[in-house]
Amino acid sequence: MPGHLAERIAVGSAVEIPFGRGNRAVLGYVVQLTDTTDLKSEQIKPVLGCSDGEVSAEGRMVALAAWLKERYGCTMLQALRTVIPVRQKVKPKENRILVLRDENGQAQGALELFTKKNQKARARLLKALLEENEIPMKVAADKLNITARTVHELEERGLLTLRSEQTWRNPVGGVENIPGSIRLSSGQQAAVDRVVSEWDDPDACGRYLLHGVTGSGKTEVYLELISCALRRGEQAIVLIPEIALTYQTVMRFYKRFGDRISIVNSRLSAGEKYDQFERARRGEIDVMIGPRSALFTPFPNLGIIVIDEEHETAYRSEMSPRYHAREVAFYRAEREHAKVILGSATPSLTSYYLCEKGRMTKLTLTERAGGAVLPDVSIVDMRRELREGNRSILSRRLQEKMDETLENGQQVMLFLNRRGYAGFVSCRECGHVIRCPHCDVSLTLHTGRRLKCHYCGYETGAPEACPECGSGHLGIFKAGTQQIEQELTRKFEGRKVLRMDLDTTRDRESYARILSAFAHHEADILIGTQMIVKGHDFPDVTLVGVLAADLSLNVPDFAGAERTFCLLTQAAGRAGRRLRKGNVVIQTYEPEHYSITCAASQDYESFYEQEMSYRFLASYPPVGALLAIHLAGEDERLLDVACDYLKRFLTLVAGKKDIEILGPAGETIGKIQDVYRKILYLKGPDQRQLIEIRKKCEQYIEINDGFSALRISYELFD
Ligand code: ADP
Ligand code: ZN
Ligand code: ZN
Repeated sequence: MPGHLAERIAVGSAVEIPFGRGNRAVLGYVVQLTDTTDLKSEQIKPVLGCSDGEVSAEGRMVALAAWLKERYGCTMLQALRTVIPVRQKVKPKENRILVLRDENGQAQGALELFTKKNQKARARLLKALLEENEIPMKVAADKLNITARTVHELEERGLLTLRSEQTWRNPVGGVENIPGSIRLSSGQQAAVDRVVSEWDDPDACGRYLLHGVTGSGKTEVYLELISCALRRGEQAIVLIPEIALTYQTVMRFYKRFGDRISIVNSRLSAGEKYDQFERARRGEIDVMIGPRSALFTPFPNLGIIVIDEEHETAYRSEMSPRYHAREVAFYRAEREHAKVILGSATPSLTSYYLCEKGRMTKLTLTERAGGAVLPDVSIVDMRRELREGNRSILSRRLQEKMDETLENGQQVMLFLNRRGYAGFVSCRECGHVIRCPHCDVSLTLHTGRRLKCHYCGYETGAPEACPECGSGHLGIFKAGTQQIEQELTRKFEGRKVLRMDLDTTRDRESYARILSAFAHHEADILIGTQMIVKGHDFPDVTLVGVLAADLSLNVPDFAGAERTFCLLTQAAGRAGRRLRKGNVVIQTYEPEHYSITCAASQDYESFYEQEMSYRFLASYPPVGALLAIHLAGEDERLLDVACDYLKRFLTLVAGKKDIEILGPAGETIGKIQDVYRKILYLKGPDQRQLIEIRKKCEQYIEINDGFSALRISYELFD
């Protein structure tokens, strides 16, 4: 590095470097600055020059990648791939927009006709068009579950026209900006005012937690704050868990900001994503909405990052680098002088703790917008049900409530707290459970006496006799969603039941289809796993039943209680939106556990206090820091040996520091597709110490060939 350049260069700076034998000058980015190198001097070339002025948006992304590598532990290539989508040439895609045709006021009559004839899809599309006037085809297909055929039918009847737009692959089309018509409540206004008043204050921390129950109007607050950023010529990133990116949500943003918004989702190819990011960089859009990865949108003048449902586990990446969206948002916002707004009805303990420590500002919305009321919640002790002779998966109370609700023409949601739960086959004599030979999980029974593995797809016929002891007394535990569906169809004859779990939603489209069918009251009962609790609005649901609430308590994870509280509170929030009072019945084998009682009384503070006293005692995050080292490999013995060596090495480098080394333990699932998985944990008071140890660990692994057959990744909690 020539001396005159050194002081102008930082990580992320664009530089000209001589490339190849001809020393052709090419553009590159600085990823790291160092005084030492293992390279021979003849392998090093001087930098030719560097660009002047501020680090560009791409440069900032490169610097972000360097930070990801440093903090989470991964290769630079993995980090760069995470922040910069691969560039690919893509064809411009035709984007069609459905426009209502209603010159003679014929649409209303047609809607009534469709409704009377029970032509639900047509009615649904026409109703939406009457409300919105125009809807991008993509939104109608994705979020309203409308097929091309339905569109064609309405077109034939002269109820809509198609406008074709050669857009540059914008997933959402164009309408003009319609200002919001809602008047903020005093609570919402106070939250907005607080953020706005501190916008340019260098002493304010600029990080906010918006705590408000589902339906309290958090989204309206986001919209207002984003408008504020846009008026200032700044841009916004909105993270919404993919599963909660519904039609209603998309349209709310679309109506407010028109074609200044764009959406990324995991279905986009790398090339399409590249295009969206490119549009952001060039200033063609101002608001990017999407799951985790939207965080890396290279806006030139980022003003605000919103993370909705910030407690969601989906905000932590499961691939190296295993970053957390909240932490990345904080990092970006600090560098780029942007605000961060986290929103949740059940904030993560970490965020709430940051508020307590004054590192984030808490904003609270106390009431449901439009005066909707919180539901009535009751807890049923399933041990007592059994003692009193009820062997059904449904308690007597839940059955009564279901009868009542269905009788009134309202809908019921039943939530099974775990996929494939106990739908397994076991021997009544010796207790042997039939498991997948490749994965360490029990096989699930399906119709036609087929046994299936939910992880690798392995399939086999159910055996006649126990493979362990030969007994013919094989029992089937009927409590998976499919079994419950059968029991419901029997018990509630004539009622339509929908089921949503990984089996019925193999492809993403079917997921949206089931939800939208239920939201439009095409069924009376929806039974499902975790998937059904996320932020959807089902106006006719007035009863939510939670079956086996405690299953998520018994997972080997320090955050089991937090997850349980969160799931139950969110599930309860599904009941009785709008003006009808809802009912919630929670069935459990541990009725006294605080995560269950606090969820029933919707008492976040009380849960927080009890859970935090446990985290303090055990020094778990957010009090202490935790580093998980995940190891995976086909050879179980090699994996064990590697864990041993690594543990010894870690003990050595930890030295006298106040650091605990736990494990190796099996992962929640010890084996998937014949790959064995283990975890080591490091627990200590100081996160920086853990990062230092991790770096040494990476070096150790790199120079020891014994580890080369294993896949190793790091996960940092704090
Ligand atoms: P959250 O994001 O907290 O779940 P939303 O912003 O989605 O809440 O608000 C829930 C419902 O209440 C939405 O239908 C929204 O349009 C409506 N709403 C929100 N704020 C207001 C308000 N100030 N006045 C009237 N309706 C409101
Ligand atoms: Zn398997
Ligand atoms: Zn047996």
